[in-house]
Amino acid sequence: MDFIKQHRIKSGKKVDLSEMETRVKGPFADKSAAKAFTAETNDAIRELQYRLFVEGKQSLLVVLQAPDAAGKDGLIRNVLGQMNPQGCRTFPFKVPSKLELSHDFLWRIHACTPAKGMVSVFNRSHYEDVLVVRVEDIVPKQVWSERYELINHFESLLRSCGTRILKFYLHISLEEQLERFGKRLENPAKHWKLNLGDYEARGKWDSYRSAYEDAMEKCNQQDAPWFVIPADHKWYRDAAVASIVRQTLEDMDPQLPKIDVDLDEVRGLYEREQVKLNDETK
Ligand code: AMP
Ligand code: MG
Repeated sequence: MDFIKQHRIKSGKKVDLSEMETRVKGPFADKSAAKAFTAETNDAIRELQYRLFVEGKQSLLVVLQAPDAAGKDGLIRNVLGQMNPQGCRTFPFKVPSKLELSHDFLWRIHACTPAKGMVSVFNRSHYEDVLVVRVEDIVPKQVWSERYELINHFESLLRSCGTRILKFYLHISLEEQLERFGKRLENPAKHWKLNLGDYEARGKWDSYRSAYEDAMEKCNQQDAPWFVIPADHKWYRDAAVASIVRQTLEDMDPQLPKIDVDLDEVRGLYEREQVKLNDETK
């Protein structure tokens, strides 16, 4: 199945999240089939990431946005965090600090974009500046409404310097979210995640939805696409994102560098050392 084709938001089209399914099985008979697919895909991602790192010419930025409990953390644990940490970093974006607020909204974001050869994963991102900031009225409309264009320019800048961008919205239903909140309540190890604000945000579900729809519509350039990932089944979410990351890395086609040493010469040195070692241990 082509997960990119399936979940990519078409550019120039109206986005209506209420028309998109949240509970999807895709090509998978059950959970274990999806998990096996994800494991295999992760192996391929690691191999490609190795090449990306060694090649050192291109980079990948993965942006994760979602309502609470939609599974950003789980996705990072099960897929994106499976990459070699030498070449992959995750950055969570929380309420901006005083210092961050004293700069432009992209200042803290730009500092975390991936260097050549690297992958950056954003757990929330600059999109919060047209989502929570808009819904909670943190800055005037005149300020946030200019940001879509600024974001497009920013992402174009990154692209022109060799960074591929993938943006994922984890699409979860109100019912599934409440069920997960319930599970958090029952599990003391998850109590640190409890947050009164999460319940408040449920009351603003439609406003958040509209803000997401606008962001996806206005900031969906050809080279920095948005994907809506059905996320009520955690195993489908993981499998779909893994597949899209794999396909993208395959398309980037990172190459191992050409060597500039003479292999025969190195082989000669190697054999000489072997002989030496054998003589010494006789
Ligand atoms: P969490 O990801 O659940 O740890 O929560 C982080 C919180 O930071 C969320 O409630 C976000 O909405 C909030 N946040 C992230 N970026 C911004 C921003 N630019 N302005 C205001 N709040 C933000
Ligand atoms: Mg939270």
